[in-house]
Amino acid sequence: MAILLPILQFEDKIIETIEQNSVVVVIGETGSGKSTQLSQILHRNGYTKHGMVAVTQPRRVAAVSVARRVAQELEVQLGEEVGYAIRFEDRTSERTCIKYLTDGVLLRESLSDPELNQYSVIILDEAHERSLNTDILLGLMKRLVKIRQTNLKVLITSATLDGGKVSRFFQDCPVLNVPGKLFPVEIFYSSDRPTSYVESSLKKALDIHIREPEGDVLIFMTGQDDIEKMVSKLEEKVQSLAEGSCMDAIILPLHGSLPPEMQVRVFQPPPSNCRRFIVATNIAETSLTVDGVVYVIDSGFVKQRQYNPATGMYSLDIVQISRVQADQRAGRAGRTCPGKCYRLYPSSIYREEFPEVTVPEIQRSSLAGSVLYLKSLDVPDIDILSFDFLDPPSRESLEDALRQLYLIDAIDGNGSITRVGRAMAELPLEPSLSRTLLEANENGCLSQALTVVAMLSAETSLLPSRSKGSEKKRKHDSLELPDGSGWGDHIQMLQIYEKWDRAGYDRRWCTDHDLQVRGMMFTKDVRKQLCQIMQKTAKGSLDVRTSKGRKETQQEYRNLRRSLCVGYAGQLAERMVRHNGYRTLGFKAQLAQVHPLSVLKIDEDGLLPNYVVYHELIATSRPFLRNVCVVEMSWVMPILKKLENLDINKLSSGGTSIPEATVDGEVTDLSKEAAVAKASD
Ligand code: ADP
Repeated sequence: MAILLPILQFEDKIIETIEQNSVVVVIGETGSGKSTQLSQILHRNGYTKHGMVAVTQPRRVAAVSVARRVAQELEVQLGEEVGYAIRFEDRTSERTCIKYLTDGVLLRESLSDPELNQYSVIILDEAHERSLNTDILLGLMKRLVKIRQTNLKVLITSATLDGGKVSRFFQDCPVLNVPGKLFPVEIFYSSDRPTSYVESSLKKALDIHIREPEGDVLIFMTGQDDIEKMVSKLEEKVQSLAEGSCMDAIILPLHGSLPPEMQVRVFQPPPSNCRRFIVATNIAETSLTVDGVVYVIDSGFVKQRQYNPATGMYSLDIVQISRVQADQRAGRAGRTCPGKCYRLYPSSIYREEFPEVTVPEIQRSSLAGSVLYLKSLDVPDIDILSFDFLDPPSRESLEDALRQLYLIDAIDGNGSITRVGRAMAELPLEPSLSRTLLEANENGCLSQALTVVAMLSAETSLLPSRSKGSEKKRKHDSLELPDGSGWGDHIQMLQIYEKWDRAGYDRRWCTDHDLQVRGMMFTKDVRKQLCQIMQKTAKGSLDVRTSKGRKETQQEYRNLRRSLCVGYAGQLAERMVRHNGYRTLGFKAQLAQVHPLSVLKIDEDGLLPNYVVYHELIATSRPFLRNVCVVEMSWVMPILKKLENLDINKLSSGGTSIPEATVDGEVTDLSKEAAVAKASD
């Protein structure tokens, strides 16, 4: 119950400290009430009289879930006094005084209101996750508290963060430690690493179910696929256990792409004499606290997306967690009574192989979007040269971001933001997609481009509706798409959506054609919102013709492909003469093949098209180009010319000094001029 949450005992101390300081760091064990209670404490103490309290979350799921909880506790309708805003979904109103939002949404809001004047308090929650956007917000808040002086309070909250480091970053601001009341957790190590952590977790879970007294089991897996596998195996096994010999069991998945109605199930109290198995990603480490957990099974792995700035390639790697993460996971077992944590790895691996802390996202992401954002901050007194980061990104990734932005005309040869760049920054999209939309507007195919961008933003829509045994393969033969799908995946996405449009956005139509209803509905909504944002951005010079009841023409496909070529100028590939694959035409060439799910076809001579642009270069079993579109040589030539003439020193001049790369894992001195200049972020 909220009444017992540890943070509530410190209400007076918290308020007193906030009153005397602009920035306060609050460190408290996960589940101590930081996310749900701090905003209410501030509300009770009058901080919402002259502005809202904003609470940022790195994850969309957490923003929604915590807002829902706080609305419940305050007995108000969600979206009224308590609301949330995540990308493409705003549930706030005039009456909202506590607003949960993703860190990305707050960054975006700062573009139209650089001083964020509608907020009296900004809480950067879950700062230990070190998401890219939270890291940028930390730098931004440092500037903002100086500008707004007494009428803005900033709270930085975290479960595990090095409070001293953040405190130094904010001129030795006070750090409040909320002591948690964690019960002891007994840790059991395996003697070896298992060959399959799914199988090994399954065995351990059943063992617990048979032998241990009541208490829920939290199992950490690495991703949705493993979770689904685990859930179905557990269901099967639990059912086959001799009836009556065990208590009942409920098995619940928990991950970021779960539909909201499934997410809330983990917060509902279980029926009596029933054990819950919660099979989760690292979302259950600190973001979402599930009560009732007594046993934790920790695979020791996490799925991490990493970006290689040299090749522009992403990889989705299953990597070892850090010691901090392992301890967080174990801690989940001791919230209500003494618990047990089963680590599926030997203690020597924990001590000797696990890194101490997780590498912050800023050091493993593409920075093009963030650099563009920082360059577009239109504040006269901000000198991006002196923008500091808690941990600066590497020189290589800043240079990569500058190159990308230059190729799509967002910055000029001197690194200064262009008119196009400014317009791009206003769209809540990655730079390649915002550039595509602006170009499509010029080429008279904005309507089609909006559809494609919306389809890409709701990635799940093209996957078959998941059912047991269904293969994850796109089979849309039944759609009988018009000629043109040979132009690649983007054009096919457009055709699918247009067909659905002509079918009156019918839900049945989606299931009949093996498309995800939720994904398609989301696409429709995203498309509508993007259209509205474009309307504002382009100030009336828009050309969004409705294509209802009309068939796309080859000329329109051509215009769209041409626009995509401009937007994806940094993601271009040329067919290899001797191999059945492509070579990327970026800074460093990378050999890659078209993803097996792509609809791109070979011609009568068995050849792939000469040039394609791709949405993503991703290494799974090997490097693949995901979502490709055929482009023409005459469009590619000007881009190659630009690449040839590119002078990285000039690009990074434009007021930009790029900090030296930091050594992985080393703690960087915050006060150092980690300054990213105009061009970097
Ligand atoms: P912290 O931010 O310190 O990790 P929270 O404020 O998130 O702590 O959680 C405090 C308590 O509120 C926990 O017991 C948690 O289970 C509960 N809680 C949080 N979100 C929800 C929700 N959506 N529904 C039900 N309970 C929730």
